[in-house]
Amino acid sequence: MPTTINGVGTHYYGKRNVVVRSGVCQSCGRAGNLKSYDTTYWFVVLFVPVLPLGRKRIFDQCPSCRRHYQASAEKFSQAQKESVAEAREQFRAAPTAEAALDVHGQMLSVQAIEQARAFRVEILSQFAEDAQLRIKLAQQLERLGVEKAATPLFERAFELNPKLPEAREALAVRRIKQGSLVEANALLDFLEVPGAGRTHSLASLRQLAEQYNASASMRTRCGCAQSCCAKSRSWHKAARCGDSSGNQRRQLTGRRV
Ligand SMILES: [Zn+2]
Repeated sequence: MPTTINGVGTHYYGKRNVVVRSGVCQSCGRAGNLKSYDTTYWFVVLFVPVLPLGRKRIFDQCPSCRRHYQASAEKFSQAQKESVAEAREQFRAAPTAEAALDVHGQMLSVQAIEQARAFRVEILSQFAEDAQLRIKLAQQLERLGVEKAATPLFERAFELNPKLPEAREALAVRRIKQGSLVEANALLDFLEVPGAGRTHSLASLRQLAEQYNASASMRTRCGCAQSCCAKSRSWHKAARCGDSSGNQRRQLTGRRV
């Protein structure tokens, strides 16, 4: 870790090839967005960089305690290139959906995010009707904390096969976060059949129930039956429920009510 005393010591300057993932810090145990990036390690005097001490790749820097891992940026870059080239060669030799998934996972594991994105474009066109491939690619992205890139893959998998439980559950969790509880409920109907708990996690159903309970409690507290109050606490405050009109509610829910 860089340290300075009275402005003299070491410091990182610059951030390139930034990769952010959601995770838990191995040092302080707090959850947050862990950041990896290329930077230059400098000797500084009065915080002015005077002597470069080498390019570094920082891994998983914690937003709370700032702790992280580091390696030589050159060595990391070389290893990353070799790993991506090897993965692509692997796919050329066996261009199947399973191999594509392995290659994509390998690219993500070495933080080759751009290369993985370009590879996804290629394989999604090659396996245009493969819903399962989209689900698994999205799950790899979610494990890395890249929820934004995972969402369209789940959406497309659902379009291709609306019965896929993984797609329904992933989309339901997103609808819950957006406050669209009715849509989430419809997506999770497959969990309401007897015995569903033996083959599926019921975590998303519990999450939905908690949101419904929170909404009911909110309505009771303010004595209001408007649909704006069936959403979240923050929305409730924003909506000033006493006079929520259809327009306001449409703004809040993003759809006709
Ligand atoms: Zn930490």
